[in-house]
Amino acid sequence: MTSIYGLSLDDLKEYFVSIGLKPFRATQVYEWIYRKGIRSFDEITNIKKDVIESLKKDFSLDLLEVVTHQQATDGTHKFLFKLFDGNLIETVLMHHPYGYSACVTSELGCNMSCAFCASGMKKCIRGLTAAEVVLQLMSVEHEVGVKITHVVVMGIGEPFDNYDNIMKFLHIINNPHGLEIGARHISVSTSGIVPRILDYANEDIQSNLAISLHAPNNEIRSQIMPVNKAYPLEKLIPAIKEYIARTNRRVTIEYILLEGVNNSEKNALELAHLLKGMNVYVNLIPYNEVKEKPFVQSTREHTQKFFDTLKKCKINVTQRYEYGADIDAACGQLRSKHME
Ligand code: SAH
Repeated sequence: MTSIYGLSLDDLKEYFVSIGLKPFRATQVYEWIYRKGIRSFDEITNIKKDVIESLKKDFSLDLLEVVTHQQATDGTHKFLFKLFDGNLIETVLMHHPYGYSACVTSELGCNMSCAFCASGMKKCIRGLTAAEVVLQLMSVEHEVGVKITHVVVMGIGEPFDNYDNIMKFLHIINNPHGLEIGARHISVSTSGIVPRILDYANEDIQSNLAISLHAPNNEIRSQIMPVNKAYPLEKLIPAIKEYIARTNRRVTIEYILLEGVNNSEKNALELAHLLKGMNVYVNLIPYNEVKEKPFVQSTREHTQKFFDTLKKCKINVTQRYEYGADIDAACGQLRSKHME
């Protein structure tokens, strides 16, 4: 049965019109679904019984089945969910001083094959539907009993490889009659699929963009991120500039520090040169070691030097704190558990 969570408000309005009702009825139902979090259509009190019956016949309100729910010492939650087709995905919930943010999975596996990442060890078998991504939020809110205020599309998968479903997801969660998650509180991260960066600039939603850059030059980037062969820096950087020019929004540049690979002072200077004059800020991410991978975390000393060098070059830079590392919930540690 069709999950109700895959419908935009416009889709639901169309459905209501198709059964001979006024579109504003759809808005009322949307509010019951997302504001009141109903678990059965029978809970709706301001709609006629026969309409409720047709909703029950045509749509499901089922949440995802929780296979495991782990909580880290820092309060981070990690869920292993079972999708309706039996595939398993992971979702992370982090508690910040400013609210709760969820890190959602966008695909079953990932085809980007980044050399350092655990999520890419299983190839992508399909993109998630918009409903499956919305359901991650609904299911986490239901399990933990909190309101998610921020969303990052930084779990397993390449969101721009599943572009249409992810855009639909963004519109559903941003809707003021629905979860109403502010666009400025939503970030989508990409490994650098250039044509989709330009498409994203034209979307009518003000959500943020993050780029997994991780290297200051093509030589290093192609070694650790095969996507760089299709979209090297001479294509990626102008696309980011174009995105900034069209949207007027600051872009986050994610940079994992890998000891002896991309964390020298020379690399920091190269990075500063590459990003000079751009409206970006660099988020330095500690590498979370993955046992099958040869990379190690940058030493404290090299990390500090890298940070200071960027600062000296007037690049906006912050260091990301890692969440949930003790339950393998940190960046790049999520694994897809689907069957081959
Ligand atoms: N495919 C998208 C979305 C994934 S976001 C993208 O590449 O942006 C997950 C982030 O964690 C990416 O920046 C990714 O490069 C980073 N990452 C992957 N493995 C990591 C690891 N072991 N430690 C720290 N960050 C990692």
